[in-house]
Amino acid sequence: MGIGLRPLIAGNWKMNGTLAFGLDLAQALDARYRALGREAGVDVLLCPPSTALHAVSSDLARAGSGLFIGGQDCHAHQAGAYTGDISPAMLRDCGARYVILGHSERRARHHERDDDIHAKAVAARAAGLIPIICVGETLAERESGLAQSVICRQLAGSVPTDGIGADLVVAYEPVWAIGTGKIPAAADIAAIHSAIRDHLVGRVGNGSLTRLLYGGSVNAENAEQILALPHVNGALVGGASLSATQFWPIVEAGRKSCSK
Ligand code: PEP
Repeated sequence: MGIGLRPLIAGNWKMNGTLAFGLDLAQALDARYRALGREAGVDVLLCPPSTALHAVSSDLARAGSGLFIGGQDCHAHQAGAYTGDISPAMLRDCGARYVILGHSERRARHHERDDDIHAKAVAARAAGLIPIICVGETLAERESGLAQSVICRQLAGSVPTDGIGADLVVAYEPVWAIGTGKIPAAADIAAIHSAIRDHLVGRVGNGSLTRLLYGGSVNAENAEQILALPHVNGALVGGASLSATQFWPIVEAGRKSCSK
């Protein structure tokens, strides 16, 4: 199940880049995406820092681009006295279609728990955003044989039951693979993706429509092999998404994978 889903290649720019950098990068990717023609066969999502999100989104919209824009986090409320935060409604208003939630950097450094992520996901969906909920084990958890149970616990706590289907994306991002150049063995990625699929389908039948992304040191060299794995419906890319020449081969690998 989950076979035949349109691949999604998402770039998480994190806290990087000026406005000029973001506009240049988005325009370079838009030109490449446009060259694919009407049947690109792959969705491409850019998640700029919030300072650049509106400018990048409006620039792409003016050009009639097919690229999607997303936020890197949002608050669980749509408005209110929450200094420094950004609501899902505000992201939607700025042209975002997706929002990354529960990234391990936020789980670790901002102490986000599964129930915080669940509340954000509910609010994001209410505002018309598609949440990309990140899950993943630490190295210690993997070495203790706990990877699958940790991930199932994160899914049970953070994924809204009524949000399972095409209006949700789950990203498997082993914490130890993010920004390190290390990736799990192909069989381990496939096993975790299959467990995530079973978990989602077990909770609500249309979990077969949820796209499952792999994230963690995806690059031009390893993307094709990772994206060809069963139940891998795309990639969440950090470092390599900051350069059109590094990101684009991953998009191409995503296109190739849609025939698997
Ligand atoms: C990420 O932070 O989501 C990520 C996958 O980073 P990188 O590709 O740099 O490992």
